[in-house]
Amino acid sequence: MSNGTGKETSKPLISDDISKIEKSLGLGYVNTDDTFLIFDTPEKNGIRQRDAAIHVDSALKILESIDRGGSRMKEVEGWLDPSNGFAEFEVRMQGLGPIRTTNIEKFEFDTHPCPHEHTVDPPLTYDEGRQYFTAVIRVTSSDGSTCIEISPNTLLCPPLTPISTEPKGHTRTHSTLKVFLAGATDREELERKSRELANSFLFELNARHRTVYSLRPRIEGFSQKRRGKTISYSVRFPRTPVPDNVAALFSIPSDFTMRGNFTLFYLSYYQILEHYLPAVHRRDSVKKVRRILRSLDFDEEKDSSVLRVLNSVERSHGASEADQLRNLIEECVPEGKLQEFFELDHGGHFDRNGPISGVSAINPKSGEPLASQVAKRIYRLRNRIVHAKDDVRYAESKVLLPLSHEAMKLYPDIELVRLLAIEAIVDNR
Ligand SMILES: [Zn+2]
Repeated sequence: MSNGTGKETSKPLISDDISKIEKSLGLGYVNTDDTFLIFDTPEKNGIRQRDAAIHVDSALKILESIDRGGSRMKEVEGWLDPSNGFAEFEVRMQGLGPIRTTNIEKFEFDTHPCPHEHTVDPPLTYDEGRQYFTAVIRVTSSDGSTCIEISPNTLLCPPLTPISTEPKGHTRTHSTLKVFLAGATDREELERKSRELANSFLFELNARHRTVYSLRPRIEGFSQKRRGKTISYSVRFPRTPVPDNVAALFSIPSDFTMRGNFTLFYLSYYQILEHYLPAVHRRDSVKKVRRILRSLDFDEEKDSSVLRVLNSVERSHGASEADQLRNLIEECVPEGKLQEFFELDHGGHFDRNGPISGVSAINPKSGEPLASQVAKRIYRLRNRIVHAKDDVRYAESKVLLPLSHEAMKLYPDIELVRLLAIEAIVDNR
């Protein structure tokens, strides 16, 4: 398709071509505006609710690559071109590290002659259209077969940008990490090898040079944002005392700078529950003992009566965190609030086939009290987030990592644990 005449943009894309591109990018085609193909992002109710555009030149390159067996990566954002032994990862740069355009001359890069066609070379490349320099980082393996490079994207990995923000004729670029292997490589092998190289290179850039890049997880749509409770329109003088640490924890999920950190949001609300566990547990134990003491058949002269007190205390002493959690939910969260929450349409999130694995489903009709079902679910989810090692005690559940697919789908669970946190704060004032 590319014949080197540089006239690629004049070649019309037929509908077959467009549907191939749609399929590989997971986006729905809307129309073509001048030299841009405009797509509708699928997450209608998610965060990325805006049009995305790619230049026709990019579309043609992607198409050529698809015809050679190229495809999008499965787990992270990026492109694999097995016939060229080439992989390109989208990266997110966090802050300005020491390896930046104004400082890059201080760095030496371990490069050697290699068989690849590199369009840019370290340390800098100049963007004519936008009139600025971008850093180029490249290293080569000692045998010259493999290169790893961070530089502006190729046409295979264009940033998806709303067309309205682009001046006519300009295409925006972003930095991507490219892995060039010696030659054609089997797809799976390429994916595995390039990911390994990317992981160790990004680790060393961070550990040795304090320059932080991360791979962008491929996100198939965020979970829908539905509020568990309607907001109130009457603003009142506050009546709810909130301890300092609880106040700090409660504000974390609203912190703009942390947006997207769903597992942290979950844990912040969970920690609020933990804060109240001992007090609620103590209160409950006292209540149970008091109930025994007040019962009509309690006789302090009888061992059996005294043993009932002792048993109750021992049981309470041996209660696990999961038990205490159930107890807290029973004590502090009105059953009606839970029913109301689960009557909302959560898009099947809490069902058996919901997007979060290794946690118990919630079925309000199962006969098991909601407090008990909820306690099991949120405790298991907490374990999946906290235990960084696959622990035998939680053999059925894998670690839930901060930027994973599942983390991006956590929203309804965050709403649930938020509801519990609010009720715990209000109940314990
Ligand atoms: Zn090279």
